[in-house]
Amino acid sequence: MDKKGILIVISGFSGVGKGTLVKELLTRYPDEYALSISATSRAPRENEEEGREYFFKSREEFLEMIDAGRLLEHAEYNGNFYGTPKDYVLSQMNEGKNVILEIEVQGGLQVRKQFPESMLLYIVPPDAKELLRRLVTRGTETLDVIKERMERSLQETDYICYYDRVLVNDDFETCLSELRRTILEEQSRIDGIHHYIEKIRTELRNLEF
Ligand code: 5GP
Repeated sequence: MDKKGILIVISGFSGVGKGTLVKELLTRYPDEYALSISATSRAPRENEEEGREYFFKSREEFLEMIDAGRLLEHAEYNGNFYGTPKDYVLSQMNEGKNVILEIEVQGGLQVRKQFPESMLLYIVPPDAKELLRRLVTRGTETLDVIKERMERSLQETDYICYYDRVLVNDDFETCLSELRRTILEEQSRIDGIHHYIEKIRTELRNLEF
């Protein structure tokens, strides 16, 4: 049987730099990973393009996608809907690619329920002041939205304990290598278990007594 890819959920506080980490991982290892593009009811930011950062939907269109069962998971985040289109993710996994989902915690936990073998990684800043600095420097949100996002970050801390690993994004290159190493280790752990399962199944089936 061909090897299926796994799901890698990457979550983290708004502004922590998870998007940049994911982009760089895909640029360096394009054959190993596929990125899931989410649907959202949030309005596009100035530099965002339809189908590149998100598939932008109205709230009605988004609700239709949920009703039609087209989303693998979905959640509401600061008044907007976000969700992962199912077909693309499943087809990439079937082709053996590890699919990266850059999503928030509620979605991450829904993914873990449906795919117990998925890997959940949480990216944190070195400290809260630095997080605020990054969010302000990014310049894509108003101060009110920044305030909402910082409050949301505090709420998300309740869920971090359900994640497999927490990675600190202080120095970018260090965090990127740690991310890559963590993924490889986890893959090899899962591969090892599957290898053993195949072996023992064959032995049990062929056992003569
Ligand atoms: P932003 O508006 O900054 O692009 O995203 C806000 C939050 O929504 C981020 O934490 C991002 O990871 C999360 N997000 C993006 N796409 C999805 C998705 O498909 N599902 C869920 N549950 N969260 C998502």
